[in-house]
Amino acid sequence: MEVIEADVVIVGGGPAGCTCALYTSRADLKTVVLDKNPSVGALAITHQIANYPGVSNEMSGEDLLTLMREQAIQYGTDYRRAQVFGIDIEGDWKTVYTPEGTYKGKALVLATGAMGRPASFKGEADFLGRGVSYCATCDGAFYRGKPVAVVGVNKEAIEEAKVLTKFASTVHWITSNEPNQEDFHVKDLLEQSNVKHWNKTRLMLIEGDDGGVTGIRVKQRSEDLEQNLSLEGVFVYMSGSKPITDFVGDQVAFKEDGGVVVDDFMSTTSEGVWAIGDIRNTPFKQAVVAASDGCIAAMAIDRYLNSRKSIRVDWVHS
Ligand SMILES: Cc1cc2nc3c(=O)[nH]c(=O)nc-3n(C[C@H](O)[C@H](O)[C@H](O)COP(=O)(O)OP(=O)(O)OC[C@H]3O[C@@H](n4cnc5c(N)ncnc54)[C@H](O)[C@@H]3O)c2cc1C
Repeated sequence: MEVIEADVVIVGGGPAGCTCALYTSRADLKTVVLDKNPSVGALAITHQIANYPGVSNEMSGEDLLTLMREQAIQYGTDYRRAQVFGIDIEGDWKTVYTPEGTYKGKALVLATGAMGRPASFKGEADFLGRGVSYCATCDGAFYRGKPVAVVGVNKEAIEEAKVLTKFASTVHWITSNEPNQEDFHVKDLLEQSNVKHWNKTRLMLIEGDDGGVTGIRVKQRSEDLEQNLSLEGVFVYMSGSKPITDFVGDQVAFKEDGGVVVDDFMSTTSEGVWAIGDIRNTPFKQAVVAASDGCIAAMAIDRYLNSRKSIRVDWVHS
């Protein structure tokens, strides 16, 4: 599997991650951004962004994010779509794991936002890693020829369900609300011969035994009774407002509210690791605050990697 080395590896391509990448790239630091999906972060789903300085109040969050990402890429950032499932920060090189490859950075930046949620379906926590997954690209191949369920109606759920159609015998797609039937990706998914759509349906229970998940119980809005579906994998894509830190484990310190602890330079309690944006559970979650965090971390990283005593501002070009 591919191993890529960089000065700076940034996990998350929202306004925090893209701003950090813009600054580190402009400081001639080899920068890789690993982003699960550019359409599912908090800015990406913001319909209209009227309070980001300097941009038209007609602009959507997704368009603003595209501008930020393209600007970073223009200055040399290597942007890759990849879901990070683990890190190892022991030693000078920080290792980041994705299904497609391993990345090693002299500096690691955590910027995955706060669209996460605690496991809340009955059985979800019990079978996490034993049939319950949040990453089809990581785990899909384990379910070759087996029935699975995908729970959720957002873009990520739709894209991940499509990935699973390559492996699973049947993909039961459970949506509590009607998906947008005009959306190309929805149409494409529903046209797959191995997709069974359970519309206006709630997941009630994930069941299993020592070997892992054996089935789920669902309830359609129009029906009085719950139904049992026999399957081996359940992929859950629902968003909430909890910092996304599942891939971090206990390798940095957290506040009681789940946000990552940082100092004035966005440095975490672990040397060589920074955290920026909503992952800190900032009291004011705004795109401009996330971008500001990214700038601060980038300048601190430049100083750290170059062992400079003072921070060099980005606008001094000598
Ligand atoms: C509905 C809504 C409306 C909002 N409206 C406004 C507004 O009008 N003005 C304003 O200033 N702010 C607004 N905000 C807040 C603002 O969008 C956030 O504060 C900001 O986007 C946080 O930036 P971030 O980079 O920390 O996280 P995000 O924007 O959430 O980006 C995180 C990125 O990390 C990626 N990621 C997550 N997990 C992984 C993983 N394991 N591996 C790799 N990548 C991963 C995601 O795909 C995403 O691209 C709004 C938020 C919401 C939810």
